[in-house]
Order: sequence, then structure tokens, then C-alpha cells
Amino acid sequence: MITVAACLLAAGLVLAGGCGKSDADKAQGPAAEGSPAAAPQPVVPLVPKAQVADWCREHSVPESACTRCNPALVAEFKKKGDWCEQHKLPKSQCIACRPELEAQLKALAPKS
Ligand SMILES: [Zn+2]
Ligand SMILES: [Zn+2]
Repeated sequence: MITVAACLLAAGLVLAGGCGKSDADKAQGPAAEGSPAAAPQPVVPLVPKAQVADWCREHSVPESACTRCNPALVAEFKKKGDWCEQHKLPKSQCIACRPELEAQLKALAPKS
């Protein structure tokens, strides 16, 4: 036990006050292997902040995709084939046809 403790202590002293050369070599080892984990990955939120503010409270859809507030968007959705003729809504927003969308849209809605 004493020997192990002494070794750890010595190692600690070397790490803390050593010249740093050998430590630097060791530290570079794993990173030089090309591990992708070494590169810091920015945490990307599921919904970018710009979109959180982009919300039509009246229609519970993103304001930038609200065809009821922006009728000009209708043509865009129709072009993409994302259009429900029956309800005059993008299929991707038509809760009447796809009730499961309601939960998804609610999840997108800003909390405050
Ligand atoms: Zn709207
Ligand atoms: Zn529909």
C-alpha cells in the first residue's frame, strides 16, 4: 500500500511540477490517432433559437410556414406536394388529417 501511495504521489508530483515534455507527448498520442471525439462538437439545439421566436401563436405553426398569415406560402407548399386541398393547409400542418402532428407542433412551440 505504502509503495503504491508513494508511486502515485511521485507521479502526481511529476505531473504537477514536471518539465511537461513527456506529458505533452503523452497527451498528443490519443489525439494524433485521429479520434473524431477529439474535435469539440458544438451542441446544436433541436430547434434553433431563430425558429423558436418564429412562431404563429394564432395558428400554432412556425410563422415562416404559416400559410394562413402568409398566403404567398401556399404556392410553395403546393409545389412541394405538401398541401391538403380538403383543409387548405400544408399536409405537414394539417392536424385534421394527421392528429399526431399536434404533439409535434406543440413540441416546437415556444414555452413562454
Ligand atoms: Zn398564422
Ligand atoms: Zn387535411
